[in-house]
Amino acid sequence: MSVLLHTCCAPCLVYPVKILEEKNIEFSCYFYNPNIHPYREFKKRLDTFRLLVDDRNYNYIIDRDYGLKTFLRAVVFKEDLRCRHCYRMRLEQTAKLAAENDHDHFSTTLLYSVYQNHSLIIKQAETISSASSVDFMYRDFRPGWQQGIDESIQCNLYRQSYCGCIYSEQERYDNRLKKQLTRKRKNDVQSDRSRHNKPE
Ligand code: SF4
Repeated sequence: MSVLLHTCCAPCLVYPVKILEEKNIEFSCYFYNPNIHPYREFKKRLDTFRLLVDDRNYNYIIDRDYGLKTFLRAVVFKEDLRCRHCYRMRLEQTAKLAAENDHDHFSTTLLYSVYQNHSLIIKQAETISSASSVDFMYRDFRPGWQQGIDESIQCNLYRQSYCGCIYSEQERYDNRLKKQLTRKRKNDVQSDRSRHNKPE
């Protein structure tokens, strides 16, 4: 098996590659993240990725283009569904590149994060795989969450404090917005419950 592993950032790469190496799976890492903003943050994550893959002699491909415009065009007016588009953009491109570079599988370090929508990532990847010549390699890397954090700290890797896009940056730092979102989520849960309890 030869896998092109989409890599969202260096800290999230540490644990998944440990698993691939243990299983003797051949891999190349692919940094393609038009969702990371602003530019200095993008550059910082890209440079950290580069430091790690160079240090460990991994095969890798980097897309250095800052994809702000591409990302915004994909999500504008659909901001509440932006993660769906964000996953799809990155996975589609990874599958395409995997096929062009003679890999038989693609996968992603997004499957390591406990903060991402794991089932949505799987669904998107499977749909992409069914229309492509490469297969999706699924692994649940989340059990290694703490191990990956500890190792990335030991390696002194830059660890970001928000997911990537400008929307997630605001959600991380704007306390007023955080409260609004918490209220909205509670209301959504309540209206879901009352819908389900309603007699037919
Ligand atoms: S929150 Fe994260 S996964 Fe969702 S759109 Fe923003 S960068 Fe992508």
